[in-house]
Amino acid sequence: MPRPCGPCGDKRRNELDRRLLEMEISGETYRGISQDFGYSEDALRRHKLRHLIIDLSEIKQAKEEARVEAHEKVKAEELEQTKADVKECMATRLENAANFFDQLKEIRAKAASLLDQAEGARDLRAAGTFLKELRETIRLWAELEGQLPQTQITIVNNPEWVELRAVILTALDDFPEAKKRVIDAIRK
Ligand SMILES: [Zn+2]
Repeated sequence: MPRPCGPCGDKRRNELDRRLLEMEISGETYRGISQDFGYSEDALRRHKLRHLIIDLSEIKQAKEEARVEAHEKVKAEELEQTKADVKECMATRLENAANFFDQLKEIRAKAASLLDQAEGARDLRAAGTFLKELRETIRLWAELEGQLPQTQITIVNNPEWVELRAVILTALDDFPEAKKRVIDAIRK
């Protein structure tokens, strides 16, 4: 088992190491350092070569690893942030869209209710106006759902519209004249 390295365990190691490392600059010799610290020149040489330089390269490597790690961490954080931003952006857009649909649903419900009232009052002129509003709302809805750009047939086939149309036409069974006007209006 090799003897433990004296300079490695020396209390003055910081200063010793510094002076060993600065020899090229300071012009100090192993002999001078040996005299100051009490280790043989060979012991100092061995320490510098085997422990000091290796330590330094390890520190350098550790620093480099830390730098790479920090860099990767920043990259990862940036990526996460970007992901979060995109997610937030999408969420906001979806939320806005959802709100818009909710509003449209409300408008539609209101229009349908007004239509009911108008029909109940046999106010056919008013019924026609509300129906127009209703139709416009449904058109807008379908447009938003991306169904309108294709053809008008898609709206006609839209289950919501089909159902609503059936309800309206049934409600108008007792008013043949109104029903005819409604059918005409729908076909426009
Ligand atoms: Zn040593």
